[in-house]
Amino acid sequence: MNTDQPVALVTGSTSGIGEAIARRFAADGALVVVHSRTSRDTGLRLARELNGIYVQADLADEHESEQLVERALDQCGRLDVLVNNAGISWPIPHADLAAATTSDWRRLLEVNLIAPWVLCTAAQPALRASTQPGGGSIVNITSHAGVRPKGSSIPYAASKAALNHVTKLLAAALAPEIRVNAVAPGLVDTPMTQDWTEAHALWNEKAPMRRPAQPSDVADLVASLCASTYLTGEVIMLDGGLNLR
Ligand code: NAD
Repeated sequence: MNTDQPVALVTGSTSGIGEAIARRFAADGALVVVHSRTSRDTGLRLARELNGIYVQADLADEHESEQLVERALDQCGRLDVLVNNAGISWPIPHADLAAATTSDWRRLLEVNLIAPWVLCTAAQPALRASTQPGGGSIVNITSHAGVRPKGSSIPYAASKAALNHVTKLLAAALAPEIRVNAVAPGLVDTPMTQDWTEAHALWNEKAPMRRPAQPSDVADLVASLCASTYLTGEVIMLDGGLNLR
C-alpha cells in the first residue's frame, strides 16, 4: 500500500451521490473506503473497480459506526477525508403533524445527524494527523432543506439544519488541523429522488439552471472543498440557483 496516498471514507457510497464522490476521489488518486449498509456485493465490486476497500456498517448503530472507522484505519493505516453522505429521507406532508411520528424523528436524527457525529468523533484523531495540504477534511452532505423551510419532511429538514450548524461548530472546534464544510444540495438525480415528479418539474421549470443536479455536480464541489486548503465552516448551497427565485 502506498503510504503517501490520501485515504477518503465516503459513507453510503454504493449509489447516488456517494458513489459519484467515491469515483471522483479515486480518479483524483485517493484510496477510497466504500461503505454501505446492505448492498455488500455492489460495494465489493465498486471497491475492486476503484482499487479501494469496502466496509459494511449500519450507521443507525453507534457501535457499527465506530467499527467502520476502526476497520478503515486497520486496513488503510490513515484517514485524510471523511464524507458524511449516507442519509435517509421519505415524504411526510409538513402540515400533517401527527404523520411525523416520534419514531420517524428518531430514525431520521439517528442516521442523518447522530451517525455523522459519531463518525467525526471516531475519525478525529486520524484526521488530525493527516499530512495533506490543509490537513484533514470533513464534508457533510446536508440539504437545501436544512437552510430554507422546505424538504421531504420537517424531521428531515431539521436533521439537515442541525448538521449544517454542527458543521460550523466543528469547523471552529477542530481548526486548524481539520477543516469542516458542508454541501447543501437541492434536487439531485439519484435513486432516492427518481419518483419525485413534482420536484423534477420544479427544477426543470423554475431553477435558473433549468435542471436538477447530477451526482457528479455534487462530487465536483466536494472535491473542490477538500482541495481548498483555507476553506472551513462553509455550507455551500448547490441548487442550480433555485433559492434566487
Ligand atoms: P441514496 O439513497 O442513493 O444514498 C443514500 C445512501 O445512504 C445509501 O447508500 C444508503 O445505503 C445509505 N444509508 C442509508 N441509511 C443508512 C444506514 N442506516 N447505515 C448506513 N448507510 C445508510 O441517496 P442520495 O440521493 O445519493 O443521498 C445522499 C445524501 O444526499 C443523503 O444524505 C441525502 O439526504 C442527501 N441529499 C440528497 C438529495 C437528492 O435530491 N438526492 C438532496 C439533498 C440532500
